[in-house]
Amino acid sequence: EMPTIRGEVTFDHVAFSYDETKKILKDVSFTVKPGESVALVGPTGAGKSTIVNLISRFYNVDSGRVLIDGQDISEVTIHSLRSQMGIMMQDSFIFSGTIGDNIRYGKLTASEDEIRKASRIVCADDFISRMPEGYDTEVRERGSMLSQGQKQLISFARTLLSDPSILILDEATSSIDVQTEKALQTGLNAMLQGRTSFIIAHRLSTIRGCDRIMYIDDGGIMETGSHEEL
Ligand code: ATP
Ligand code: MG
Repeated sequence: EMPTIRGEVTFDHVAFSYDETKKILKDVSFTVKPGESVALVGPTGAGKSTIVNLISRFYNVDSGRVLIDGQDISEVTIHSLRSQMGIMMQDSFIFSGTIGDNIRYGKLTASEDEIRKASRIVCADDFISRMPEGYDTEVRERGSMLSQGQKQLISFARTLLSDPSILILDEATSSIDVQTEKALQTGLNAMLQGRTSFIIAHRLSTIRGCDRIMYIDDGGIMETGSHEEL
């Protein structure tokens, strides 16, 4: 088991390959301080998603260690690890049920008030309230009636409700209208507060709120610094 974590994340000489044919990460080392937000940028196939997939232990490293608060994550249960993480992937996970249900999934005991509050903080409340049945609106077929951006906002609200110490966002390149883009940016910045965050985003606006940028290429960290430095 893992005690409640502060959220320091360290890669200590990590090497990783999906299969024997190709080493993806060769020797990656870095430390992210508790509460720090990092944007991972770099070309397609560089290894950005691979790095965050190792933090959430979707795969195990070949050699080296991934540490959270100094604890090797291969020595804790997946459940205790993931219970402290908010993971948002390219395709926002939407299931059949109401929008409220979809958000409550982050914290099953949440009240209506908590759901609304989380939604307001991430700027999801506006579009939800404008729907005919608001939070009681049924989403069918995995949210086919919702836009990409709206699904992402719902996923933000759900994740905020779960109050994770470590936040991971691996975002798709998607065309989003200007208004939703603004909401997403404001919502994301609200979520970053007080959490160690790893953001993979293709739009520059999304990563503007991050403390540090890591430039990844060919399975390694080429450069790291603030917006001003890079
Ligand atoms: P993008 O910006 O396109 O999302 P990325 O930086 O996230 O790219 P990764 O998905 O980490 O890149 O991929 C790094 C390398 O690992 C690529 O060469 C890719 O082909 C390979 N790769 C990724 N996932 C797998 C997998 N499940 N099995 C085998 N190889 C994979
Ligand atoms: Mg990727």
